[in-house]
Amino acid sequence: MSDPTIEDEERTKQTMLRISNLEKRFGGIVAVDGASFEVERETITGLIGPNGAGKSTVFNLITGVYEPDAGQIYLEGEDVTELRPHQLVDRGLVRTFQISRELAGMTVLENMLLAFDGQLGESLWRSLVPGARRSVVHQERELLDRTWEILELFELDHLAHEDAANLSGGQRKLLELSRALLTDPELLLLDEPMAGVNPTLEKKLLARLHELRSQGYTFLIVEHDMDVIMNNCERVIVMHQGQVLSHGPPEVIQEDERVIDAYLGGQI
Ligand code: ADP
Ligand code: MG
Repeated sequence: MSDPTIEDEERTKQTMLRISNLEKRFGGIVAVDGASFEVERETITGLIGPNGAGKSTVFNLITGVYEPDAGQIYLEGEDVTELRPHQLVDRGLVRTFQISRELAGMTVLENMLLAFDGQLGESLWRSLVPGARRSVVHQERELLDRTWEILELFELDHLAHEDAANLSGGQRKLLELSRALLTDPELLLLDEPMAGVNPTLEKKLLARLHELRSQGYTFLIVEHDMDVIMNNCERVIVMHQGQVLSHGPPEVIQEDERVIDAYLGGQI
Protein backbone atom coordinates (compact mmCIF):
# COMPACT_ATOMS: atom_id res chain seq x y z
CA MET A 1 0.00 0.00 0.00
CA SER A 2 1.32 3.42 -0.85
CA ASP A 3 1.34 6.13 1.77
CA PRO A 4 -1.31 8.73 0.86
CA THR A 5 0.60 11.52 2.67
CA ILE A 6 3.67 10.98 0.52
CA GLU A 7 1.48 10.87 -2.57
CA ASP A 8 -0.09 14.21 -1.60
CA GLU A 9 3.34 15.73 -1.09
CA GLU A 10 4.52 14.46 -4.46
CA ARG A 11 1.44 15.92 -6.07
CA THR A 12 1.99 19.32 -4.45
CA LYS A 13 5.58 19.33 -5.72
CA GLN A 14 4.39 18.61 -9.26
CA THR A 15 1.71 21.28 -9.09
CA MET A 16 2.99 24.75 -9.89
CA LEU A 17 -0.39 26.48 -9.68
CA ARG A 18 -3.79 25.45 -8.39
CA ILE A 19 -6.94 27.51 -8.41
CA SER A 20 -9.89 26.32 -6.41
CA ASN A 21 -13.53 27.41 -6.84
CA LEU A 22 -12.55 30.89 -8.00
CA GLU A 23 -15.36 33.38 -8.39
CA LYS A 24 -15.40 36.92 -9.71
CA ARG A 25 -18.44 39.12 -10.32
CA PHE A 26 -18.69 42.49 -12.02
CA GLY A 27 -22.03 43.88 -10.89
CA GLY A 28 -24.57 41.38 -12.17
CA ILE A 29 -22.09 39.55 -14.42
CA VAL A 30 -20.45 36.40 -13.11
CA ALA A 31 -17.19 36.49 -15.06
CA VAL A 32 -15.64 33.51 -13.25
CA ASP A 33 -18.07 31.06 -11.72
CA GLY A 34 -16.36 28.51 -9.47
CA ALA A 35 -13.38 27.67 -11.68
CA SER A 36 -10.86 25.07 -10.50
CA PHE A 37 -7.78 23.76 -12.30
CA GLU A 38 -4.12 22.89 -11.88
CA VAL A 39 -1.01 23.74 -13.86
CA GLU A 40 1.71 21.14 -13.59
CA ARG A 41 5.34 22.12 -13.24
CA GLU A 42 7.41 22.26 -16.44
CA THR A 43 4.47 22.18 -18.82
CA ILE A 44 3.08 24.46 -21.46
CA THR A 45 -0.59 24.52 -20.45
CA GLY A 46 -3.21 26.12 -22.68
CA LEU A 47 -6.24 28.02 -21.42
CA ILE A 48 -8.90 28.29 -24.12
CA GLY A 49 -12.58 29.12 -24.46
CA PRO A 50 -14.95 31.25 -26.52
CA ASN A 51 -14.94 35.05 -26.13
CA GLY A 52 -16.27 36.08 -22.74
CA ALA A 53 -15.50 32.68 -21.17
CA GLY A 54 -13.55 34.34 -18.36
CA LYS A 55 -9.94 33.64 -19.42
CA SER A 56 -8.60 37.18 -19.00
CA THR A 57 -10.40 37.56 -15.68
CA VAL A 58 -8.78 34.33 -14.45
CA PHE A 59 -5.38 35.72 -15.51
CA ASN A 60 -6.11 38.92 -13.60
CA LEU A 61 -7.15 36.94 -10.52
CA ILE A 62 -4.07 34.71 -10.61
CA THR A 63 -1.71 37.67 -11.00
CA GLY A 64 -3.36 39.63 -8.17
CA VAL A 65 -4.77 42.39 -10.36
CA TYR A 66 -8.28 41.46 -9.18
CA GLU A 67 -9.30 40.08 -5.82
CA PRO A 68 -11.60 37.04 -6.09
CA ASP A 69 -15.05 37.15 -4.51
CA ALA A 70 -14.52 33.53 -3.48
CA GLY A 71 -12.00 30.72 -3.90
CA GLN A 72 -8.28 30.21 -3.46
CA ILE A 73 -5.08 30.41 -5.48
CA TYR A 74 -2.10 28.24 -4.54
CA LEU A 75 1.40 28.72 -5.91
CA GLU A 76 3.68 25.74 -5.26
CA GLY A 77 1.23 24.60 -2.58
CA GLU A 78 1.14 27.93 -0.79
CA ASP A 79 -2.01 30.04 -0.50
CA VAL A 80 -1.27 33.29 -2.38
CA THR A 81 -4.89 34.43 -2.80
CA GLU A 82 -4.35 37.67 -0.89
CA LEU A 83 -1.03 38.66 -2.45
CA ARG A 84 -0.54 41.77 -4.57
CA PRO A 85 0.98 41.60 -8.08
CA HIS A 86 4.53 42.66 -7.01
CA GLN A 87 4.53 40.08 -4.20
CA LEU A 88 3.62 37.42 -6.74
CA VAL A 89 6.44 38.54 -9.04
CA ASP A 90 8.80 38.08 -6.07
CA ARG A 91 7.50 34.52 -5.81
CA GLY A 92 8.21 33.79 -9.43
CA LEU A 93 4.85 34.42 -11.06
CA VAL A 94 4.91 36.86 -13.94
CA ARG A 95 2.68 37.74 -16.86
CA THR A 96 3.56 39.44 -20.08
CA PHE A 97 2.27 42.94 -20.55
CA GLN A 98 1.66 44.43 -23.91
CA ILE A 99 4.12 47.17 -24.76
CA SER A 100 1.92 50.23 -24.40
CA ARG A 101 2.13 53.29 -26.56
CA GLU A 102 4.17 55.24 -24.02
CA LEU A 103 6.72 52.49 -23.75
CA ALA A 104 6.97 52.46 -27.50
CA GLY A 105 8.71 55.84 -27.14
CA MET A 106 11.67 54.11 -25.49
CA THR A 107 14.37 51.85 -26.84
CA VAL A 108 14.25 48.08 -26.59
CA LEU A 109 16.97 48.16 -23.93
CA GLU A 110 15.12 50.79 -21.90
CA ASN A 111 11.99 48.65 -22.06
CA MET A 112 13.97 45.70 -20.73
CA LEU A 113 15.28 47.72 -17.81
CA LEU A 114 11.71 48.53 -16.78
CA ALA A 115 11.45 44.91 -15.67
CA PHE A 116 13.53 45.79 -12.62
CA ASP A 117 11.60 47.48 -9.91
CA GLY A 118 12.58 50.22 -7.48
CA GLN A 119 16.12 51.34 -6.80
CA LEU A 120 17.92 48.57 -8.54
CA GLY A 121 16.17 49.56 -11.73
CA GLU A 122 17.06 53.19 -11.26
CA SER A 123 20.70 52.54 -10.55
CA LEU A 124 20.87 50.13 -13.45
CA TRP A 125 19.39 52.88 -15.53
CA ARG A 126 22.04 55.35 -14.34
CA SER A 127 24.68 52.79 -15.09
CA LEU A 128 23.80 53.05 -18.74
CA VAL A 129 24.32 56.78 -18.82
CA PRO A 130 27.72 57.49 -20.35
CA GLY A 131 30.19 58.61 -17.70
CA ALA A 132 28.40 56.85 -14.86
CA ARG A 133 29.61 53.41 -15.84
CA ARG A 134 32.34 53.23 -13.22
CA SER A 135 29.69 53.23 -10.50
CA VAL A 136 28.26 49.96 -11.75
CA VAL A 137 28.38 47.40 -8.96
CA HIS A 138 28.89 43.71 -9.51
CA GLN A 139 25.27 42.68 -9.04
CA GLU A 140 24.06 45.21 -11.55
CA ARG A 141 26.68 44.06 -14.00
CA GLU A 142 25.24 40.56 -13.73
CA LEU A 143 21.71 41.78 -14.37
CA LEU A 144 22.90 43.74 -17.34
CA ASP A 145 24.70 40.67 -18.65
CA ARG A 146 21.48 38.71 -18.27
CA THR A 147 19.59 41.43 -20.13
CA TRP A 148 21.93 41.05 -23.11
CA GLU A 149 21.81 37.26 -22.86
CA ILE A 150 18.02 37.29 -23.15
CA LEU A 151 18.09 39.85 -25.96
CA GLU A 152 20.50 37.56 -27.82
CA LEU A 153 18.34 34.51 -27.15
CA PHE A 154 15.39 36.23 -28.83
CA GLU A 155 17.55 37.79 -31.52
CA LEU A 156 16.70 41.28 -30.36
CA ASP A 157 20.24 42.32 -29.42
CA HIS A 158 20.85 44.11 -32.73
CA LEU A 159 17.70 46.15 -32.01
CA ALA A 160 18.67 47.16 -28.46
CA HIS A 161 18.94 50.87 -29.25
CA GLU A 162 15.97 50.91 -31.60
CA ASP A 163 12.77 52.71 -30.56
CA ALA A 164 10.32 49.98 -29.51
CA ALA A 165 7.75 51.73 -31.73
CA ASN A 166 9.70 50.53 -34.78
CA LEU A 167 9.47 46.84 -33.88
CA SER A 168 7.18 44.52 -35.81
CA GLY A 169 4.22 42.97 -33.97
CA GLY A 170 6.16 39.74 -33.60
CA GLN A 171 9.29 41.45 -32.29
CA ARG A 172 7.16 43.22 -29.70
CA LYS A 173 5.87 39.87 -28.51
CA LEU A 174 9.45 38.69 -28.17
CA LEU A 175 10.29 41.84 -26.21
CA GLU A 176 7.33 41.24 -23.88
CA LEU A 177 8.50 37.72 -23.22
CA SER A 178 12.13 38.84 -22.81
CA ARG A 179 11.09 41.41 -20.25
CA ALA A 180 9.06 38.87 -18.29
CA LEU A 181 12.03 36.48 -18.25
CA LEU A 182 14.26 39.14 -16.69
CA THR A 183 12.31 38.96 -13.44
CA ASP A 184 13.61 35.40 -12.98
CA PRO A 185 10.18 33.75 -13.00
CA GLU A 186 9.12 30.13 -12.56
CA LEU A 187 5.61 30.47 -13.94
CA LEU A 188 4.83 32.70 -16.91
CA LEU A 189 1.32 33.65 -17.94
CA LEU A 190 1.16 34.62 -21.58
CA ASP A 191 -1.92 36.31 -23.05
CA GLU A 192 -2.05 35.59 -26.78
CA PRO A 193 1.70 35.38 -27.36
CA MET A 194 1.25 34.61 -31.07
CA ALA A 195 -1.13 37.44 -31.96
CA GLY A 196 0.34 39.46 -34.83
CA VAL A 197 3.39 37.22 -35.13
CA ASN A 198 4.38 36.11 -38.63
CA PRO A 199 4.80 32.35 -39.26
CA THR A 200 8.61 32.41 -39.27
CA LEU A 201 8.81 34.29 -35.99
CA GLU A 202 6.02 32.16 -34.52
CA LYS A 203 8.06 29.04 -35.20
CA LYS A 204 11.07 30.59 -33.47
CA LEU A 205 9.01 31.81 -30.53
CA LEU A 206 7.50 28.35 -30.05
CA ALA A 207 10.93 26.73 -30.22
CA ARG A 208 12.11 29.13 -27.50
CA LEU A 209 9.09 28.28 -25.33
CA HIS A 210 9.87 24.57 -25.55
CA GLU A 211 13.52 25.25 -24.80
CA LEU A 212 12.60 27.30 -21.75
CA ARG A 213 10.13 24.66 -20.58
CA SER A 214 12.81 21.99 -20.74
CA GLN A 215 15.01 24.29 -18.64
CA GLY A 216 12.34 24.19 -15.93
CA TYR A 217 10.01 27.08 -16.70
CA THR A 218 6.23 26.60 -16.61
CA PHE A 219 3.83 28.37 -18.98
CA LEU A 220 0.11 29.06 -18.87
CA ILE A 221 -1.01 30.41 -22.23
CA VAL A 222 -4.21 31.98 -23.52
CA GLU A 223 -4.14 31.64 -27.29
CA HIS A 224 -6.84 31.78 -29.95
CA ASP A 225 -4.89 29.78 -32.52
CA MET A 226 -6.11 26.21 -31.97
CA ASP A 227 -3.24 24.67 -33.92
CA VAL A 228 -0.74 26.39 -31.65
CA ILE A 229 -2.56 25.10 -28.57
CA MET A 230 -3.08 21.55 -29.82
CA ASN A 231 0.45 21.15 -31.19
CA ASN A 232 2.38 22.68 -28.31
CA CYS A 233 0.52 22.22 -25.03
CA GLU A 234 0.79 19.14 -22.84
CA ARG A 235 -2.46 20.06 -21.11
CA VAL A 236 -5.43 22.13 -22.18
CA ILE A 237 -8.04 23.75 -19.94
CA VAL A 238 -11.30 24.78 -21.58
CA MET A 239 -13.41 27.52 -20.01
CA HIS A 240 -17.01 28.32 -20.89
CA GLN A 241 -19.29 30.83 -19.18
CA GLY A 242 -16.92 31.31 -16.28
CA GLN A 243 -16.52 27.60 -15.56
CA VAL A 244 -14.02 24.92 -16.46
CA LEU A 245 -15.78 22.84 -19.07
CA SER A 246 -13.05 20.30 -19.67
CA HIS A 247 -9.35 19.69 -19.12
CA GLY A 248 -6.84 17.15 -20.32
CA PRO A 249 -4.29 16.39 -23.04
CA PRO A 250 -5.01 17.96 -26.46
CA GLU A 251 -6.05 14.62 -28.05
CA VAL A 252 -8.80 14.23 -25.47
CA ILE A 253 -9.94 17.86 -25.62
CA GLN A 254 -10.27 17.73 -29.41
CA GLU A 255 -12.69 14.81 -29.17
CA ASP A 256 -14.70 16.18 -26.23
CA GLU A 257 -18.32 16.71 -27.33
CA ARG A 258 -18.91 19.42 -24.72
CA VAL A 259 -15.95 21.40 -26.05
CA ILE A 260 -17.09 21.03 -29.65
CA ASP A 261 -20.61 22.16 -28.65
CA ALA A 262 -19.28 25.19 -26.74
CA TYR A 263 -17.41 26.35 -29.83
CA LEU A 264 -20.20 25.60 -32.34
CA GLY A 265 -21.12 28.81 -34.09
CA GLY A 266 -18.83 30.64 -31.73
CA GLN A 267 -15.50 32.25 -32.38
CA ILE A 268 -12.45 30.19 -31.64
P1 ADP B 1 -12.33 36.15 -22.09
O1 ADP B 1 -10.99 36.67 -21.76
O2 ADP B 1 -12.45 34.67 -21.98
O3 ADP B 1 -12.84 36.62 -23.40
P2 ADP B 1 -13.21 37.88 -19.92
O4 ADP B 1 -12.57 37.36 -18.69
O5 ADP B 1 -12.60 39.07 -20.55
O6 ADP B 1 -13.38 36.69 -20.99
O7 ADP B 1 -14.73 38.24 -19.62
C1 ADP B 1 -15.64 37.37 -18.94
C2 ADP B 1 -16.95 38.10 -18.74
O8 ADP B 1 -16.78 39.14 -17.76
C3 ADP B 1 -17.49 38.79 -19.97
O9 ADP B 1 -18.90 38.71 -19.93
C4 ADP B 1 -17.02 40.21 -19.81
O10 ADP B 1 -17.88 41.11 -20.46
C5 ADP B 1 -17.07 40.40 -18.30
N1 ADP B 1 -16.05 41.33 -17.81
C6 ADP B 1 -14.71 41.15 -17.86
N2 ADP B 1 -14.05 42.18 -17.29
C7 ADP B 1 -15.03 43.03 -16.85
C8 ADP B 1 -15.00 44.29 -16.15
N3 ADP B 1 -13.85 44.87 -15.80
N4 ADP B 1 -16.20 44.86 -15.87
C9 ADP B 1 -17.36 44.28 -16.23
N5 ADP B 1 -17.44 43.12 -16.87
C10 ADP B 1 -16.30 42.48 -17.18
MG1 MG C 1 -9.67 37.85 -22.93
